[in-house]
Amino acid sequence: MKRSVLSAALGLALAAGLAALPTTAVAAPAAPAAVQGYTPAAHAGPAARAAEAADNQAFFRAVVASVKAKRAADPWLRSVTVTYDTGNAPSFASQIATAARIWNSSVRNVRLQETGGQGDFSYYEGSDSQGSYASTDGHGHGYVFLDYQQNQEYDSVRVTTHETGHVLGLPDDYSGPCSELMSGGGPGPSCTNPYPDADERSQVDYLWANGLAAVH
Ligand SMILES: [Zn+2]
Repeated sequence: MKRSVLSAALGLALAAGLAALPTTAVAAPAAPAAVQGYTPAAHAGPAARAAEAADNQAFFRAVVASVKAKRAADPWLRSVTVTYDTGNAPSFASQIATAARIWNSSVRNVRLQETGGQGDFSYYEGSDSQGSYASTDGHGHGYVFLDYQQNQEYDSVRVTTHETGHVLGLPDDYSGPCSELMSGGGPGPSCTNPYPDADERSQVDYLWANGLAAVH
């Protein structure tokens, strides 16, 4: 009896552990089907929300995988730097630079740095009925899309810093207060706070400390 309970528990733990690993056998879709946005998607039921959460995890894994490859090439790197490019989001250069400054002054274990070439992730701008979002191709390159209309309705620095938070592994928490960055558009357009709160900063440092540990 005890043994079967134990083996069932081990089976669950093993399944959970495997579920947390990158799934290289699964081909990524050409275009992401689910995204992590600034406001709840128009048709977001529980299934859509679960898909968004899974997509966010895949995005985070892709960014971490890219950073791991970089560190493997240079084991003496002392800090994790995630690079980004902004060539496809020229209207948001200022907001993106501010978002990077905010994150770099808020967390210790990961740094954002702009590159003129292809970054670990890219910013894009345009118009999309879903608004702004973060997503991934599942192969080490993610992107942040910044929607024109939403960035006029909502505080643009907060939107940009929020979406960048997804790159660093944070999920949405739309029901949270304005003091939380990842509550996104939940508190409404009057919320202009662009800073992660203490819990969010700790969470990012925790996630990237683990990413570092996994490299060695
Ligand atoms: Zn979001």
